[in-house]
Amino acid sequence: MTAHLILHVCGYDAEHELRGNPHSRAWQAGKRAEGVCPTCWRAGRNATDAQNVALANERGWPTLDGSPKQVAWATTLRGDLVDELPSRMVELARAGEHRGKDFPAQQEALVLARDICLEQTSAAWWIRGRNQLGEALLAVPGVLPRLKQAGDAGATAKALMLWAGATP
Ligand SMILES: [Zn+2]
Repeated sequence: MTAHLILHVCGYDAEHELRGNPHSRAWQAGKRAEGVCPTCWRAGRNATDAQNVALANERGWPTLDGSPKQVAWATTLRGDLVDELPSRMVELARAGEHRGKDFPAQQEALVLARDICLEQTSAAWWIRGRNQLGEALLAVPGVLPRLKQAGDAGATAKALMLWAGATP
């Protein structure tokens, strides 16, 4: 490992530890130089987090609980995950036996999934669930009776559970 001083596109230089042979280190240095320096990157991320907190307030979503770092990250994750929900449900609608069927139920499931997710105010819940939001949702206490009550003849629950990866 060798420390390399790299001039970044933002105009600042920063020291980076690079591994590997000289050829590989030169390549890595070139890649790093194409991005902003770590200080600018952090500043950009902080600005993004601040924007996401403002957006969440605008949407009337609850403030999350956790350490300031967790809250900043989870607020960004929550915005991304909730915005991704419709496309995930569309994927489900295109998949297998559910294709083209029960579209209203899927819409209802989507709204219900969003509402239950938005009730979760623990930053840790969003961070843990970031790769498996469906599983996290199904693990919420009391969620199954709510799903089963929703929609007509359990179609909503079925759509949601399929999405979440559970066997309806
Ligand atoms: Zn910079």
